[in-house]
Amino acid sequence: MITKFYSNKDEIYNTYDKNDLGFVYTPQSTTFKVWAPAASQVLLKLYSTGSYLEEGATVLSINQMVYDKQTGVWSTTIDGDLHGIYYTYVIQNGNKSTETQDVYSKATGVNSARSMVVDLSRTNPQGWENDKHVLVDKQTDAIVWEIHVRDFSSSNTSGVSKQHRGTYLAFTETDTKVPNTNAPTCLSYLKELGITHVQLNPVFDFGSVNEATGVEYNWGYDPVNYNVPEGSYSTDPYHGEVRIKEFKQMVKALHDAGIGVIMDVVYNHMYSGGDSCFEKTVPDYYFRKQGSRYLNSSGCGNVTASEKTMFRKYMIDSLRYWAEEYHIDGFRFDLMGCHDIETMNLIREELDKIDKRILMYGEPWTADNGDNGISGEDCCTKNNAKKLSSRIGMFNDDMRNGLKGGSDDDTKGYIQGSGFDTYKVLAGMMGASSDTFGRWAKQPSQCVTYASAHDNLTLWDKLLKSNWVKDFNTTDSKIIDQNKLSAAFIFMAFGIPFMLAGEEFARTKFGDHNSYKSPDSINSIDWTRTIKYKELVDYYKGLIDIRKKYHQLCEATEDAVNKTYMTYNGKTITGTMANLSGKSDEYKFMAMVVNNNNEKCKFELKSKYELPNRWYVLADHDIASSKAIRVFDNNMEIRPNAILIIVDADSYDKIHDAEETSKIPNYSAGY
Ligand code: CA
Repeated sequence: MITKFYSNKDEIYNTYDKNDLGFVYTPQSTTFKVWAPAASQVLLKLYSTGSYLEEGATVLSINQMVYDKQTGVWSTTIDGDLHGIYYTYVIQNGNKSTETQDVYSKATGVNSARSMVVDLSRTNPQGWENDKHVLVDKQTDAIVWEIHVRDFSSSNTSGVSKQHRGTYLAFTETDTKVPNTNAPTCLSYLKELGITHVQLNPVFDFGSVNEATGVEYNWGYDPVNYNVPEGSYSTDPYHGEVRIKEFKQMVKALHDAGIGVIMDVVYNHMYSGGDSCFEKTVPDYYFRKQGSRYLNSSGCGNVTASEKTMFRKYMIDSLRYWAEEYHIDGFRFDLMGCHDIETMNLIREELDKIDKRILMYGEPWTADNGDNGISGEDCCTKNNAKKLSSRIGMFNDDMRNGLKGGSDDDTKGYIQGSGFDTYKVLAGMMGASSDTFGRWAKQPSQCVTYASAHDNLTLWDKLLKSNWVKDFNTTDSKIIDQNKLSAAFIFMAFGIPFMLAGEEFARTKFGDHNSYKSPDSINSIDWTRTIKYKELVDYYKGLIDIRKKYHQLCEATEDAVNKTYMTYNGKTITGTMANLSGKSDEYKFMAMVVNNNNEKCKFELKSKYELPNRWYVLADHDIASSKAIRVFDNNMEIRPNAILIIVDADSYDKIHDAEETSKIPNYSAGY
């Protein structure tokens, strides 16, 4: 039972549990169904165009819908092939009559005002029938790169053709390069980087960008139609089927490159409460309200009511639709703290029916918990992680802050030399699943490990600010070393590694910490930085490769955490990981040492198990690689502001052929 701090017309209505709300299309006829239990009349209005602005705009017909009292559903069937016909509902609630698009819209005209009937089979790109989900076996095998569709290619440095820049179709261009260079960009670049998934900032239809002009920039955290792709990223926002096809082309191109697609879903609030199709269809139902006041735990003017039967159903239907129709491989839930635990666990169960490996994680907080309307016991925040499925993850902001300090200020974290919050880093390394260092997760699969995301300063800008460096294009080795330290922690931690696109090439937004509506000149990816900061890109690539090849790093269970030994001696962090699987193709031990001080210091490796005597170095302050870069010289000293990642040489020798291992250089690092 969910404790609610308000009362309204909660479950006074009959509800509906079938999966045919919206329209069901056949070439012979289309049936429309809308749940509107408070309405005294509902009319279906058919139009020839998606907006009144277009040439030939005509009302084709107005049709009375029939009410079923048992379910609260109004329905009607119209004969003929309605593909491409636009429609709205005119709903009489009390003495108020409003025209609205369908809550269950699958396609719309420009700027979302009218829904469109679509024969989805006609939106499938070539080869779509063979397109499959790209999934990883364990949540913690995922490596996530967060990107905004427009930022990906809006700059001319992307090398993408002018007509596709900033659109879904930019993802379908192959062999793109920074102009006049051989440096790969966009999809070609991602294939080399080695990430497993992209996470797309909102790609459902949102309200803040005029699709007719596409001039404004926005991140898109202002949903209008949850089941429709955003029109401003398509080459033709007027014809509802075009954006659907182009979205699928994007997904297919990423899948063909072996990259999974995670959608950022924002079910917690909408562009507008009062003007939303939800409120117009069933007043005072879909949002948490106190009288006429919209509760605001989303911080955006309204918060939806995930605990209500028909919004819970809506979330489930919507997520299933994206996973099945668009082959989406994972979902990132914006302000998941606004949602109730029961709903999120039900979503997990429903997605499991499609595939258990579909990723789910979210932000375990609200913007104003005091105005959330449901008890703190019932919402998806970190302190309730244990009530959630172990396959619903949460962003670990504790580790993020421990690593780099406050997100937007000039404070320092561990990587800039502070020892203040080191325990947060240690706890994060253990996937927030260690009783020794502090835990909130059941196991590492619940922990998303990150240093930067779209919100707040980019990691680069944060490092500059906290080091009092003003030049966004600096090549100051101190800053680059700190960036490398951060990356080493993220990729060597238990949990799901996550990064903002371009963290690996010193992406700057010139100090803009909240660029949600800043112009392209701030937000777009400058691909020339992959050349300028190639050393950093290569370091990330190496770490990603290490993570993929070293099985124990991706262990998702508490058991793996218990086999890891971490210490902190005031200067250095030392961790040893053991893999007791006994499998001949897996490395048995690896260790990581980090020194964040300005002077070299000694370290000692500790473990619950007998450690090997011979080690190879995989990464130091210069290079990271899954191939051993040198024999470890047993010098138990580490230089200032440096990292050392080593692997046990016996198991390495067994896995790699003798010719390769005999060539591993044997020299002293000379600390
Ligand atoms: Ca839109």
